[in-house]
Amino acid sequence: MSGGTFEYEQYYIQTLIEEMQEQSEWVKDNYSIDIYTNHITTINKLKHVYIHVQRLDWLFAGDDDEESYKKRLNTELKMLRIKMPDDTRPHKDGWAPGNYTNNCHTCFEEFVGDKRAVTCAPCAYGDNT
Ligand SMILES: [Zn+2]
Repeated sequence: MSGGTFEYEQYYIQTLIEEMQEQSEWVKDNYSIDIYTNHITTINKLKHVYIHVQRLDWLFAGDDDEESYKKRLNTELKMLRIKMPDDTRPHKDGWAPGNYTNNCHTCFEEFVGDKRAVTCAPCAYGDNT
């Protein structure tokens, strides 16, 4: 097993993400769109935090050198953005949900959204900041 710098406590974040994802439909059905949006945004932020902690763990435990740390971090953050085609958060700034593949004008990554969307949901909602 690799890592261990933080006693594998980042796995609690992963469990939290899974539990929150399981509650998404319930939140959508029982609360306003603003609360639902905050719920989804929080899950996305936790996913970023998890990746960052996991990569630092491997770096500090000596499993990665700085070069492979940066490479793995960039790859995993990129995968996270691409793996979000189910983002159904409502229209905001240049973002709107849909099924077209576009390139974000802010982060330049590929995303799935409305035909006329120019910004990915994570950029529009500030998930990456
Ligand atoms: Zn973006």
